[in-house]
Amino acid sequence: MKIAGDTHTHTLLCQHAYSTLLENIQAAAAAGHRFLATTEHGPAMPGAPHDWYFENLRKAVPRELLGVVVIKGCEANIMDQAGTLDVPEAGLKKLDLVIASMHRVTFPQGTTPEERTAAWRGVAKNPRVDIIGHLGDPRFKSDYEAAVRAFREGGQAVELNASSSKSRPGSEENCCRIAALCKEYKVPVVLSSDAHFCASIGEVEPAAAIAQKAGIPEEQILNLSYRRFRNWLAARHDIQDLPEE
Ligand SMILES: [Zn+2]
Ligand SMILES: [Zn+2]
Repeated sequence: MKIAGDTHTHTLLCQHAYSTLLENIQAAAAAGHRFLATTEHGPAMPGAPHDWYFENLRKAVPRELLGVVVIKGCEANIMDQAGTLDVPEAGLKKLDLVIASMHRVTFPQGTTPEERTAAWRGVAKNPRVDIIGHLGDPRFKSDYEAAVRAFREGGQAVELNASSSKSRPGSEENCCRIAALCKEYKVPVVLSSDAHFCASIGEVEPAAAIAQKAGIPEEQILNLSYRRFRNWLAARHDIQDLPEE
């Protein structure tokens, strides 16, 4: 499976990734991608950029560089059982793409699966959230069926994250189950690298294998085609300047 663009990538601005945005764009161009989503961690993550980064991103960075459409996004932290995000609304409104994820350092400790499922339901109700990040993390096991059904209602896509097997050991079985549920409920998916270094941009093979194993049709994988991803995103938010092809 060849992706048209990576939907989840980091830069050195979060202080635990090691490439610049331009290096990531160069890597995307070298891989023949049509787009790259830059999705920095929200401000609650230690070392992550503060609010102004997200408010200024669209203004400061060109829409297209080296033939790569730059999608300006964030990976917001889910902060509580209500699904509250750490990026303020003023920032969310100014971004093209919002991933919402649970992280060990920002989501409350000691929650139950029911409480985490409630958090996912809250996230699904937020029209600013486009993609659900690494849902299969075993530290945040939830009722995946209830969550995927909520995402169907909310119109979110679910990410299959290629870094999960390394960064979140024990994810694979959960990710296979989530992929099967996405197929059953026809929830769109994306394949992402979650790259923290430019050489990893576009490395999505483990995620592609899970999608294939689940039998998810290619038309349901948004980022296999720029046009498919672009049209899905343009229907969710008022973004005037995304090239059509
Ligand atoms: Zn993450
Ligand atoms: Zn990430």
